[in-house]
Amino acid sequence: MIEEFENFETLAIRNQIERTQYLEHSVPLFLTSSFVFEDAEDMRASFAEEKDRNIYTRFSNPNNLEFIDKVCKMEKAESGFAFATGMAAIFSTFATFLNAGDHIVSASSVFGSTHTLFTKYFPKWNIQTSYFDINFPQNIESLILPNTKILYAETPTNPGVDIIDLEFLSQIAKKHNLLLIIDNCFATPYIQQPIVWGADLVIHSATKFIDGQGRVLGGITVGKKELIREIYLFARNTGPALSPFNAWVLSKSLETLAIRMEKHSDNALKLAQYIENHKQVLKVKYPFLKSHPQYSIAKKQMKLGGGIVSFEIHGGLEAGRNFLNKIKMCSLSANLGDTRTIITHPASTTHSKLTPEERLAVGITEGLVRVSVGLENIQDIIQDIEHALN
Ligand SMILES: *Cc1c(COP(=O)(O)O)cnc(C)c1O
Repeated sequence: MIEEFENFETLAIRNQIERTQYLEHSVPLFLTSSFVFEDAEDMRASFAEEKDRNIYTRFSNPNNLEFIDKVCKMEKAESGFAFATGMAAIFSTFATFLNAGDHIVSASSVFGSTHTLFTKYFPKWNIQTSYFDINFPQNIESLILPNTKILYAETPTNPGVDIIDLEFLSQIAKKHNLLLIIDNCFATPYIQQPIVWGADLVIHSATKFIDGQGRVLGGITVGKKELIREIYLFARNTGPALSPFNAWVLSKSLETLAIRMEKHSDNALKLAQYIENHKQVLKVKYPFLKSHPQYSIAKKQMKLGGGIVSFEIHGGLEAGRNFLNKIKMCSLSANLGDTRTIITHPASTTHSKLTPEERLAVGITEGLVRVSVGLENIQDIIQDIEHALN
């Protein structure tokens, strides 16, 4: 029998699938591609879905089910499906619900590959996307067309760390009968639960804070049972499922999510407060800094500020590159949500193929630096960044 736990930290550790006859303490690893049937009737009933059981790992596996069940409880979702990567989750979720001729309304600042899906691949199937600036949410309704099906956003955004009001988005989605889909990767369910504010589906790249230790890739979509049922059927037939090994790693990762997010957020707030007063820094954005333009919304919907800080340094592109070259301890890497502090300069790296105008349109200025604040001692993080700024 699976026991039900209310408190986040307890369910993260104690919520589990049934154990085997060996009564192992920690979750065992089920590396098996398929499962056997008792007899012809068992096989028939299983395929007819009269029985709730594992058949083939492309459909389900005990490790995937344990990981999914925990994330669902954390996000207050009814059901979920786990994917090989965050992008597999995003693509499969959209592909499940969109038909040729449909329209998406999305925030303009979304993860790079999500943006590429909207601009390069979905138009092949005559699916168009309109974009709103997250700082002007009052413009969203004017973008909605008779064929609009999905309203999509990330909050906080990458790399600008802007915040959008989830309750406001859900009111618009309900009024216009749209599916509200939120990428909750930056906040994690410990900090923010979009379903509580009215989102229909929540997506994660589990590669980031959920694993939190830079080891595996993974993704998950959770939400209403009847919607997840459609996603499950799509995924069952197209094959983007998470591997049981990665699901096992991610189940273990969730056990420490709360304590890690507390420390990431504590370190990030201290770093943000420190650099806010640095003369080389034009402006700092962190959800729980009083100077953040959407501070009151952040306080309403987030438990903590999260692990990402962005700031703008004097001197534009060259100053950004120089700053990166002077960093000694922190990693220069494209990932985020790791125990190790990671620094990126989007204008010269992830977004270097865009023109300065295109970058500005997605909120990336030339001197913008993004820090994914890790779990090292905060004095060492500050010292490294201070030295590079000076
Ligand atoms: C990294 C990321 C993704 C994509 O996840 P992968 O696991 O790398 O495929 C999607 N959304 C956001 C916000 C991300 O940071």
